[in-house]
Amino acid sequence: MKRSRRTKILATLGPSSSDQSTIEALFRAGADVFRINMSHTDHAAMRSLVSEIRNVEQRVGRPIGILADLQGPKLRLGVFSDGKVKLEEGATFHLDSDPTPGDASRVQLPHPEILEALEPGHRLLIDDGKVKLTVREVTTNGVFAVVDVAGPVSDRKGVSVPDTMLAMSAMTEKDRRDLDAVLEAKVDWVALSFIQRPDDLAEVRKIARGRVGVMAKIEKPQAIDRLDDIIELSDALMVARGDLGVELPVEKVPGLQKRITRSARRAGKPVVIATQMLESMITTPTPTRAEVSDVATAVFEGADAVMLSAESAAGQHPVEAVTTMDRIAYEVERDDNYTTIISAQRSAPEATGADAIAAAARQIAETLNLSAIVCYTSSGATALRVARERPSAPLVVVSPVRATARRLALTWGLHCVVSPDARDVDDMVDRACAVAYAEQFARPGQRLITIAGIPFGTPGATNLLRIAYVSDDGRGGS
Ligand code: PEP
Repeated sequence: MKRSRRTKILATLGPSSSDQSTIEALFRAGADVFRINMSHTDHAAMRSLVSEIRNVEQRVGRPIGILADLQGPKLRLGVFSDGKVKLEEGATFHLDSDPTPGDASRVQLPHPEILEALEPGHRLLIDDGKVKLTVREVTTNGVFAVVDVAGPVSDRKGVSVPDTMLAMSAMTEKDRRDLDAVLEAKVDWVALSFIQRPDDLAEVRKIARGRVGVMAKIEKPQAIDRLDDIIELSDALMVARGDLGVELPVEKVPGLQKRITRSARRAGKPVVIATQMLESMITTPTPTRAEVSDVATAVFEGADAVMLSAESAAGQHPVEAVTTMDRIAYEVERDDNYTTIISAQRSAPEATGADAIAAAARQIAETLNLSAIVCYTSSGATALRVARERPSAPLVVVSPVRATARRLALTWGLHCVVSPDARDVDDMVDRACAVAYAEQFARPGQRLITIAGIPFGTPGATNLLRIAYVSDDGRGGS
């Protein structure tokens, strides 16, 4: 089975999509990677989803990626004696460390490190920014804040503090337990929420020790300030537009989306555009025109993947939402302007063998109108550099490592096949032709280009490029 688009689709699983037949229907409709949201999934449920996805993988015969999204340090208010209060505009409200249930004058903020870090002028955004306060005065056990935007607040509502650098790591105790569990379940990607600094990624990398790809969710202004360093320490990025649009004015999100997408593409790291892409499809079977345009913008920009959240996890039309994304990406990628726009954002190759060969492979494939570029890779690094070129020829990845094939399912344009390493160069060409033929990327008489590192299995050794004809029996010919 091969997809007829290059942009990948990431679908979040949840109550609407937790059974194996729905997961298979989502895959067949176009989902390439499944996201398990650890904010709402316990370990037993996570393990059962992983095993259902692996069963689907066996049935469909294609590698499927799994992303576990860690909750991160989501800040919450304490509780109120009546469950909720209405905060009036201009009123003064005390946030303190006292666990006694609150009222209209005060409530606990059960995060001592936040109370310590808040300073006059810092904003507190409650319930996705529906209620807004500004700190006026720091007290011995908390802060006095004035209500700028009034509204109801209730027990344990989420709080964002966009102006405050928090002296806390992006991994809570729950995240550490969840990380151990998802590593044991052998997921392919782990996403880290609310990161502020590169060190937040260093911590998870140390624990993961290469067993999983590490995705940085960009949703805090502090992370934007350190974007390049964060990209360097990540294996992939997510533009988490939900929280980003709470922590920063919503009108800044589109520009940041472009900036993050372009920076990630320049670095050759996969980038996912997330949140509210087809929000109305939670309840209706067709999207709004504005949503279609939003998905199209991400595809035109050359993002690696577009993501569904509640649409596939809790909505009434999960399969239709994936089908809709699939159709939009298919159509945009055939638009006359697509290649021009994608190519305009292509960065020059870096001074490495892998980049030189990746750029040459794209140019040769385009000049000779070759049917495919076949890339041998163990770690996946070479395949990422070829994908960075955004070539117009199909990209087939051959890897002996199943985990690599699954992880690369997230990346723009990569069609991955698990196959043992070749014995020698002739065997490599034979196998490349056989795979491209079997997967319907090349017909007998057509030519393709193969790239690899010799000796096989040596990371960073990309040093070989070979053009070959597919012979009548679907094997390599000179
Ligand atoms: C987001 O905030 O956009 C996001 C993807 O994070 P989550 O869904 O985990 O809140």
